[in-house]
Amino acid sequence: AANESKQIAKCFDKDLGFKHARRLDITRKLIYALESRQFELYFQPQYGIHHKKMTGVEILVRWCVDGAFISPSEFIPIAEQNGLILPLGSWILKSACQQAANWQNNLPQNAKIAVNISARQFLQPGFCDEVERALYDSGLAPERLTLEITEGVIMQNKDLGIKVLQKLKSIGIDVAIDDFGTGFSSLAYLKQVPIDKLKVDLSFIRNMQNNKDDQAIVITVCQLAKNLNLTLIAEGVESKEQLKMLETFGCDEIQGYWYSKPLSQADFEAFVHAAQYS
Ligand code: C2E
Ligand code: CA
Ligand code: CA
Ligand code: CA
Repeated sequence: AANESKQIAKCFDKDLGFKHARRLDITRKLIYALESRQFELYFQPQYGIHHKKMTGVEILVRWCVDGAFISPSEFIPIAEQNGLILPLGSWILKSACQQAANWQNNLPQNAKIAVNISARQFLQPGFCDEVERALYDSGLAPERLTLEITEGVIMQNKDLGIKVLQKLKSIGIDVAIDDFGTGFSSLAYLKQVPIDKLKVDLSFIRNMQNNKDDQAIVITVCQLAKNLNLTLIAEGVESKEQLKMLETFGCDEIQGYWYSKPLSQADFEAFVHAAQYS
């Protein structure tokens, strides 16, 4: 048994070693990527579940290195840890506002642009100023911007988090809680924070049709959003069956492959154009 655990420890070390090397490699490439503009914004539409009109567009960053995409699920946490998320996040926010402002008249009326903001970025001193500057420089109206943050942001530093949220609210910006239901925080914070929207995580939507527990969670979150007067959006909606279920549960908006995958700028513009004339 001792031998066996030694064996396991060895494999574990090796695995950690690989992870560490990969992490270092990504860090090195990230520094270079920031200088040489290897990042690109992708766009995924969000729709009102009843009127089926576009209500928003989520901005998702893409990184292509040497002809291969590295997933944001991998590099964003690394960038969070080494602080590179600050310059990267600033670039994303600025570019997203600029793009949205350029589209002002081409996007469906009142469609908002949703930008993911990581914890470190959100809690960074001067974050609200940065948001105001991005709006001012681009000419985008604050009412057109939604910021998506996770519960973790508020849990990390509740007092500061609430202050930032209040400031954003006073500017006129909407805030959505992303990945709702996956954190381990209590629900009590919801009555203290000025937010506008809950985004139920795609992990609950994925097997909703076959899994009673997931279904119960989604129904409960729909009720919760309604009672707290928050808009509820479901992400990861891939089928008509899921859409129908969410409609009966009282969900307000949906996003997912059922309507569209995240698209490059050119593809998104073609998509919007085609929808206008269909
Ligand atoms: P997220 O914010 O929860 O984004 C949802 C993810 O689900 C995206 O993955 C999106 O492409 C994917 N998705 C959308 N519809 C469907 C669907 O119908 N089915 C399935 N299976 N997946 C769907 P993506 O683009 O790989 O991003 C992963 C995560 O990386 C994001 O999760 C977010 O946490 C982070 N991320 C992406 N872009 C940014 C960014 O600009 N800034 C920051 N801070 N984080 C970002
Ligand atoms: Ca998001
Ligand atoms: Ca999510
Ligand atoms: Ca996420």
